Amino acid sequence: MVNNIGYKVKKIGEIIDSSHESINIVKKMFSDGIYEKESKIIKMLWSTKEGFSASASIKKSTKEIHEISFSYDAASIIYKESSCLPFICKNKISIEGQNEIFKDILHKREECPALPPILDDEEIIDRIFRSTLAWIYLHEQAHLFQCHGEVENKLINKNSKYSIIEERELFLDQRFNSIHRHLFELSADYEATQYILPLLVGADKGELRRGTLWCLVFGLSCLFHRFYRYGGQVVEFKSEGTHPTPALRMFFVLQSLAEILKVEQYRKYIPWMQNPQNFSDLIAHATTTASMFRKVCYQNSFEEFPFLENSSNIDSVPDEYLDNLTKSWNIIRPQIESKYFGKSRSCILPLFEFRDLKKNL
Ligand SMILES: [Zn+2]
Repeated sequence: MVNNIGYKVKKIGEIIDSSHESINIVKKMFSDGIYEKESKIIKMLWSTKEGFSASASIKKSTKEIHEISFSYDAASIIYKESSCLPFICKNKISIEGQNEIFKDILHKREECPALPPILDDEEIIDRIFRSTLAWIYLHEQAHLFQCHGEVENKLINKNSKYSIIEERELFLDQRFNSIHRHLFELSADYEATQYILPLLVGADKGELRRGTLWCLVFGLSCLFHRFYRYGGQVVEFKSEGTHPTPALRMFFVLQSLAEILKVEQYRKYIPWMQNPQNFSDLIAHATTTASMFRKVCYQNSFEEFPFLENSSNIDSVPDEYLDNLTKSWNIIRPQIESKYFGKSRSCILPLFEFRDLKKNL
């Protein structure tokens, strides 16, 4: 991370307070009522474990107590990246450079800034930080609502003391069926994305500002980009490990956002979105800024740009992998549906031919 370059950041105590406050709002809004109705308890735990980690777990002996855990490191990393963005764009990349990169994306000849329109620096930092943190919480909550641990135990006939889904990092753990795990992740991403938009509309007091949506896409792009490499290697499109490649997850999240924003009930919140091109332009702007930002911060080579390409195009995904996802999802989804206790079963990833996603491009 860029250090000692003169930008003002919050002290760690303030970051911790902001993290608690943000998550408490989301928990109150999306979890507490449902858990109360189910006579279950949801606990939010913060750990001092080193590194970027989050998890959702249920102990078998106390099935009614569910836990979501985050490391303070995760919140701190998200905050540091958010707070660096305005500084980097204003001080480390020339205006000419930004105009050159963004002129095609923004369809303008001049004044093509890397930062989102309308929002000031404080708002940009605040929105990226809060929306990314909220989305991760909603993703963990979805693992619990969709009973992924329990469904997995049944699928592989396992009898472990805990059912736990960890996001600590992408690891090649052989104890799990990768296709099952990949589907749990994609479905948890889908549910988190369904919930995050009402939260953003609430934060914008009854609308969804262009800049707010931009900040969400930027934050998620940085989040997924972080895990695009494992042990120095790009994580590929295949059934290995516990999580799909972050590029595929980003692709699905963007698809979900596009679908949700087409729904009539959302139209009134986004008067600025007159046609699908407005959405594509916003996505291209936010994801390109994220890739550029990560390059400047982490001194990555332009090699990292495949993340950008692969999260907007799944042409290179093997059909066999996509067909395996479809086949397994046909078996797993009904099991999840029968146990689901969240807001609406429509928040579970629908049944469809994964291969068809290629045709939409
Ligand atoms: Zn997960």
